[in-house]
Amino acid sequence: MSYDTLVVGAGLAGLTTALRLTEQGQKVVIVARGVGATHLAPATVDVLGYLGEERVDSPASALTTLLTDVPGHPYGRVSRQQIGASLEWFCRRLERLGYAGGLDHNGLFPTAIGVARPSALAPRTMLGGDLRDGGRFLFVGLRGFKDFHPSLLADNLAHARLPAPVTARALELEPPAERRGDLSGRLLARRFDSGELTDWLVRALQGRVEAEERVGLPPVLGLRRADETLADLENRLERHVFEVPTLPPSIPGMRLYDTLTAALRKAGARLVINAAVVGAQAHDGQIESVQVASAATTMSYRTHSVVLASGGFASGGLTLDSRGAARETVFDLPVAGVPEDGATRFVAGYFDAQPLSRAGVAVDDLLRPTDRDGSPVYRNLHAAGAILAGAVPWKEKSGTGISVATGYAAADAILAPSAVGVSGSIG
Ligand SMILES: Cc1cc2nc3c(=O)[nH]c(=O)nc-3n(C[C@H](O)[C@H](O)[C@H](O)COP(=O)(O)OP(=O)(O)OC[C@H]3O[C@@H](n4cnc5c(N)ncnc54)[C@H](O)[C@@H]3O)c2cc1C
Repeated sequence: MSYDTLVVGAGLAGLTTALRLTEQGQKVVIVARGVGATHLAPATVDVLGYLGEERVDSPASALTTLLTDVPGHPYGRVSRQQIGASLEWFCRRLERLGYAGGLDHNGLFPTAIGVARPSALAPRTMLGGDLRDGGRFLFVGLRGFKDFHPSLLADNLAHARLPAPVTARALELEPPAERRGDLSGRLLARRFDSGELTDWLVRALQGRVEAEERVGLPPVLGLRRADETLADLENRLERHVFEVPTLPPSIPGMRLYDTLTAALRKAGARLVINAAVVGAQAHDGQIESVQVASAATTMSYRTHSVVLASGGFASGGLTLDSRGAARETVFDLPVAGVPEDGATRFVAGYFDAQPLSRAGVAVDDLLRPTDRDGSPVYRNLHAAGAILAGAVPWKEKSGTGISVATGYAAADAILAPSAVGVSGSIG
């Protein structure tokens, strides 16, 4: 088996790189141990939501300050033009899911606990929840679905710091029972896909939605035809309707994964899921083949280029041993950004800027992992997404943006290396 590019990982970074390379005519294989954080995260693309404690209105402006403060940030390895182009490309490729937004302004979307979350791009099913212009909102819960509490959401939103006044109220509805017990997001999504819950919801909300109110629902409008369901609900209720992301698993994230993998298969890429990349054979500074272990056997894949998109600690791209040493698990690359011995690794607040979250692989302008003196470890190995050193994604709200921008830029580096070379430049 021989490929132009082998991509390690099927998270947002790996899928972005693979799709962009495939549409440019490359023969691409993705090898992934399993699905990535798409199935857990809300499916928005968050380029930069916070700079320190300040909520960011314009990622385009705030990126300049970020890179002055943190020159080793992954965004310092791509140009602002590439970040903007990656978002435009993403909206075009994900047209079916109706992604909208851009680098100039963050939208502000409610979370299930009533926090206003800044995102650069959101899918069509969430756009109606943008809080920037204020307005009146009705949040509707489905009894039995435990991960969505509309009154908590509405109360917290009423106290949130928002650019325009918002009024919010809550309503809890009892969906017709299919069986006893808790309702899962998948089960509800299946029942919306069949149309059964759409008809019920319209009837249940008839006469209960006040004038000018927008209707926020849990993110379960279907896996296959959420857009049609949304349009149907909006037409029949004559109101804007939107989904509010909540705890994992993420139905909107599954839609994103399904759409990207369907596009990849259609374009001719091969996906090998449930197999792990366990090493590589290199000659003269170039990887020539990659070892892939599945349940049955270990095979060798020959490839011209490799993109490492194996995620951070959460996905096993990085591990930490009992003595606190961090390791890159696929190619045993040097790990940068680990706090020195004795320095603080973790701080008390779960969502605070955790020093260890900056750990990852350092890369050059072609996104190639580098050794301690800054030289590429392999000339044809690139890295993208959460495996990169330098970011504090949970605090910055930047994880998905980094994956899309660096996934896109890794493809650029493979397709036209001489056109890339941007270290630190964001202009
Ligand atoms: C619950 C949750 C909520 C989040 N919320 C947000 C949010 O609101 N906003 C935001 O911006 N970000 C959020 N994030 C973070 C964001 O999702 C990630 O930063 C980003 O998607 C990482 O993408 P990735 O492709 O780099 O890695 P991942 O999505 O982690 O994918 C890594 C891939 O590599 C594969 N892999 C690992 N090792 C191997 C190997 N040896 N061989 C083969 N495959 C391998 C894995 O199986 C997986 O497919 C959230 C994450 C989680 C978990």
